[in-house]
Amino acid sequence: MNEYKIILFLCNWGPHTALQSLQDTYDEKKNIPVEIKIVRIPCTGRISKALLLKAFEMGADGVALVGCKSGTCRYGRGTVTAEDNTRDTRDILELLGLGKDRMQQATFLPDEGDAFLKFINNFCDQIRSLCTSPVIPDKKIELEHVEKKSIEEIISTYDIYACQDCGKCTSACPLALIGKPFSPRTIAGSILKGDLESDAIINDVWSCLTCGICYDRCPSNVNFPEFIRDVRHLLKQNGKNGHENHGGFFHSLMRTMTSSKLETKRWHDIPEDIKIDHDSKTLFFGGCAPFFDIFFRKFLGVNTNKILIDSLRLLNFFDIQPAIFNDERCCGHDLLWSGDRDNFLKLAQLNANSINSLNIEEIITSCPECYRTLSHDYPGYGIKLNCKITYIHEFLENRISKEAVKFKKSNKRLTYQDACRLNWIDDQRDLPRKLIKRLKLAGFQELQNHGNTAICCGNCAWIGCDSYSKALQVKRLRQASDTGSNVMLTSCPKCQIHLSCAMEDPFIGDKLKIKLVDLISAIAGTIYRE
Ligand code: SF4
Ligand code: SF4
Ligand code: SF4
Repeated sequence: MNEYKIILFLCNWGPHTALQSLQDTYDEKKNIPVEIKIVRIPCTGRISKALLLKAFEMGADGVALVGCKSGTCRYGRGTVTAEDNTRDTRDILELLGLGKDRMQQATFLPDEGDAFLKFINNFCDQIRSLCTSPVIPDKKIELEHVEKKSIEEIISTYDIYACQDCGKCTSACPLALIGKPFSPRTIAGSILKGDLESDAIINDVWSCLTCGICYDRCPSNVNFPEFIRDVRHLLKQNGKNGHENHGGFFHSLMRTMTSSKLETKRWHDIPEDIKIDHDSKTLFFGGCAPFFDIFFRKFLGVNTNKILIDSLRLLNFFDIQPAIFNDERCCGHDLLWSGDRDNFLKLAQLNANSINSLNIEEIITSCPECYRTLSHDYPGYGIKLNCKITYIHEFLENRISKEAVKFKKSNKRLTYQDACRLNWIDDQRDLPRKLIKRLKLAGFQELQNHGNTAICCGNCAWIGCDSYSKALQVKRLRQASDTGSNVMLTSCPKCQIHLSCAMEDPFIGDKLKIKLVDLISAIAGTIYRE
């Protein structure tokens, strides 16, 4: 039985002609290996990273992009784009533990049939030597924890009947305020009417940033973000999906990580001066920053992995040599908030099994979404972690307040972008401000909207990005410019990504430019012992 699945995305022009020339001169030795499944495409440049990764998510053992030689592409830059996408996908596959050699790119002229045949035979040999992929395509697996709530149950869980129709949620919602025809009150009203097919449900439910401002304002205590999360899950169960940004790349990435046999290699390039102790009782949980940096390196040039390295450096500074675990998977935040609760639970269970086998007493994380997910959502869904979860701001404030440390003077004037997932949990909103006060800055000024009026960076869970997301980012960056600051401190890797995205705008981007630095990096760069 043929157990391998090898996908060849084959360009319609040069390579397809090469294939035809092989078929025209039929000879048994020139047969295409049976493992190869050919997908004929107009140009390799059209096959995005999302499509390449999708093939692996669906169980491909190997994928090759086969196009025209550089300079012969009918569309100009197709081959160059394919090279970039191949490089990025190979690097992502390496972090995922699948190995970069499962993805190849090749180019052929129309008369290079024999070279084409040689390539596919070699590629098949290479994939056979790597064995079949450990990724198991998503089949519906019955999970103990998955509740299948009806709309009536969701309404009752969040007490939507208590809604007074006062509109305070809408008048505080950043999306409504930026001009989007969007109203949480209308969504609540449509749900109460049981009208799951209305525009307010089918379209708007996916737009909400789940930022939490409306929950803070609601006199009836309607937990709108969690209510929206459950409605999304219900819609997904009924086959109605929202728009996944970036072609669904990040959702594919997360779903790929739900395969239990996958051994990820998340931590592969830690600087030599960082000290790690695999027997430590403290675990550092990093999150998906390394994947983000690869995906966005060509367009945004972000370096969010630096947040993780600076976090480790700070832990070492305070004499903690933490454990890390290579098999760390995405915490599942974005799957949960985009309505894919089943895959969230698979990820959560895999992470919990690994962490609970490590004899860990405390997890420290520097990603707000990981913090919220591990500390609130895992227990909320019955996934038990046998340890304390600490956000790194709390750890730092605690240690800095007790130890003899100082900060180098800075000539920078700073402002601060609140992270939604920290803003509404306990006192996590105050901690970064306590830390900022300790830095020796030339000046610090809050953004016009900060604390409990802070505005989200424009997108959550990689869904529903549109012109209003951009407008929110522009608003935020204009507010930063109004403070006269040179640097905007952030606390979430995604704030850096989304705000950098607005700065790429060819028309107004230059007017919005400001340096984005994570608070952890600002501390790591200036702290010293007295
Ligand atoms: S703020 Fe609360 S009570 Fe008022 S309309 Fe919104 S959900 Fe209803
Ligand atoms: S969670 Fe945020 S974006 Fe969603 S409705 Fe509430 S205020 Fe608006
Ligand atoms: S704002 Fe930019 S980076 Fe964020 S989801 Fe939209 S396009 Fe992507």
